[in-house]
Amino acid sequence: MQEIVVLGAGYAGLKTVVSLQKKSGDFHITLVDMNDYHCEATEIHEVAAGSVDRDKISYPIADVIHSNKVKFIQDQVTHIDKDQQVVTLKAQGQIKYDYLVVALGFVSETFGIKGAMENALQMVNIDTAEAVHNHILDRMKAYQTTKDPDDLKLVICGAGFTGIELAGAFVDERARYAQIAGVDPKEIQIICVEAAPKILPMFKEEMANYAIDLLDKLDVQLKLGCMIKEIQPGKVLYSTSKDSEELESITTSTIVWTTGVSGSPVMEDSGFKARRGRVIVADDLRDPDHDNVYIIGDVAAFMDKSSDRPFPTTAQIAIAMGEHVAKNLDHQLQGQATENFSFKSAGTVASVGNTRGLGVVGSTNLKGYPASFMKKIIMNKSLMDIGGLKEVFAKGRFDLYH
Ligand code: NAD
Repeated sequence: MQEIVVLGAGYAGLKTVVSLQKKSGDFHITLVDMNDYHCEATEIHEVAAGSVDRDKISYPIADVIHSNKVKFIQDQVTHIDKDQQVVTLKAQGQIKYDYLVVALGFVSETFGIKGAMENALQMVNIDTAEAVHNHILDRMKAYQTTKDPDDLKLVICGAGFTGIELAGAFVDERARYAQIAGVDPKEIQIICVEAAPKILPMFKEEMANYAIDLLDKLDVQLKLGCMIKEIQPGKVLYSTSKDSEELESITTSTIVWTTGVSGSPVMEDSGFKARRGRVIVADDLRDPDHDNVYIIGDVAAFMDKSSDRPFPTTAQIAIAMGEHVAKNLDHQLQGQATENFSFKSAGTVASVGNTRGLGVVGSTNLKGYPASFMKKIIMNKSLMDIGGLKEVFAKGRFDLYH
């Protein structure tokens, strides 16, 4: 009996397991994750704003695995020994594998900026997102006695997709926050601090400008060209000029960090040839140095040969990788050659609140409501791809028409 160990139950790892468990053969799967649930990580901004409850974007792993074929272990992976073919878990010791799928996901990237980890709220999983929402509620309640305008200020560091989606979700909840604080919604300031002079470099200028106009209309203050240099308790310090060492600052009670992500630190700690936690994988998604190790999702860099750059890490590519690895493992178990992975993005869409968004699907630009509609279709598809109809009915977005 061959033992296949899958590390991580995010989009990539869980898709591998649900696809592989349908195949016949002399193998057993062990799936390891810190949590006993799968989280739709693309939606955590909604939990951070308080638009939805954590249960709406997560479901139990037990719902989707076949217990006769798959054993689930809830624990934290601390090390992978590729030579001994052993994975070390924080609480439960070591497990051996014949084949390994590493899908350990992302962590927050602070680029070594002083105070970012300690003094800003992170946005990496449901727990950190829920902590953001609880923090906001605390500050809004506190305002009733402090009357400190900083309690009404929500500062987002970085205006990438995560920052913009979070700002949009905050806009949707602005009236609720204001009611808790006992102020006019206009007094709730939402501020995005971004280093680059433009946003969303993956889009053509028209779409990036649309995003800037939309945020402006929604009364989100977008501060472009502001490179954050330090986060102090209650203070974001940034530079607006390369030529000057002088720093400007914003004081606030709420600082949320969304300046990008890197792959799990376990990759570098375990001696994989990783950069920012991502390993450049072979064409068939294996580790170039180990024939029995696949690396997928946010810990993998799969090169786009047309641009000579890795594909961006998205849920879409992670799910496609998971499905492909299940197929390749099946081939390997049957003594057949693996197949190369190929990927063509179906598009990228970001929500800006529940009814607006922006994105590109194929060669079509989507703005406003159609983009928001598409984002919900994409979420329903990812629920279907891994969780099947049961999870689509329980967690799907059917408020498509307004
Ligand atoms: P990102 O890297 O896409 O964006 C981070 C932003 O922070 C960039 O605009 C960057 O210029 C800015 N930044 C970095 N350092 C800074 C500093 N010191 N001061 C000020 N600004 C700074 O990261 P993300 O938004 O967390 O997204 C991570 C990945 O997840 C990306 O690949 C993204 O495409 C993907 N994602 C996709 C969606 C979607 O498809 N709807 C949603 C969220 C995230």
